[in-house]
Amino acid sequence: MIMQRVSSSTTAFPTTAVPAAPIGMPRAATPSAQEGVLIDRMKASETIEHITVLNASPRTWRTEGYDVGAKYVIDQMTALGWEVHIEELPASGFMARGIVKNVIATRPGTAVAADRKLVVAGAHLDSVKNGPGANDNASGSATLLELAKAYEGIDTANDIKLIWFDGEEAGLLGSTAYAKAHAEDAPRTIAMVNMDMVGSIHGRVGYDLGLKTGTAAVSDALKGVQLRTGLTAVEYAERHSRSDHASFDKAGIPAIDFGVSVKGVEQDDPYYHSPKDTVDKINPQVLEGYGDLIAVTILELANRSTRW
Ligand SMILES: [Zn+2]
Repeated sequence: MIMQRVSSSTTAFPTTAVPAAPIGMPRAATPSAQEGVLIDRMKASETIEHITVLNASPRTWRTEGYDVGAKYVIDQMTALGWEVHIEELPASGFMARGIVKNVIATRPGTAVAADRKLVVAGAHLDSVKNGPGANDNASGSATLLELAKAYEGIDTANDIKLIWFDGEEAGLLGSTAYAKAHAEDAPRTIAMVNMDMVGSIHGRVGYDLGLKTGTAAVSDALKGVQLRTGLTAVEYAERHSRSDHASFDKAGIPAIDFGVSVKGVEQDDPYYHSPKDTVDKINPQVLEGYGDLIAVTILELANRSTRW
């Protein structure tokens, strides 16, 4: 998540959160067989192993540390059988301009090409200069890797693209450049699911919707997924444009941002943007709670033929 900026818009929306239950203590619910498999497979212990590797050094935009992180992602995704590559694009934002190197992995859906839609799930791989970025955002990057593994043998109708964005901390550079370069994909994109800071030490499982695209229908659908699976989360009243979901929201693609609330960053993670943002501060229960909910949300989206 980037620092607050003058032009950043934040708007409060009235929301009704699903009644809170302790993380990992589902209420009576009937997840589908595939949802059950995904929930079972998303394991914080394995996500933390990826964070530990990614956490070896800062992964700042335009540094060798970023390239090392990107290579790790490519090696992991290649081993899992996904098509994966680095896409270099020129980028410009409100803070900087330059080349970004997003890592993009694709898995084709099973629907016939004419009917096939797209779901994008993303996390920024880069970190700030003065910290290794375990929570911000090796947590989201590692969750994407675990998602790829959890989906082994679980086919979906729609294509799934997993994207590790570059240059988020330099002003959403990677996602801005991606959304611009792939504007032709926007009409067939069901939604973009972002994950940023999903292992906060004092955190909880929560999400906010796109400023422009977050409708009551999207909100209701997300709550429906929670009621069916027994997983719980808070929908934040404040929506913001401080992470990569904003680049898709601006392009009219329904965007869901899993992670800290805009007001709760420092409280949830006192190590935010500091050298102390290290893997030992990751909260495994929070990390697994996010992983479970993100996995089943993507399953719902990846089998839909229309937007909510
Ligand atoms: Zn950040």
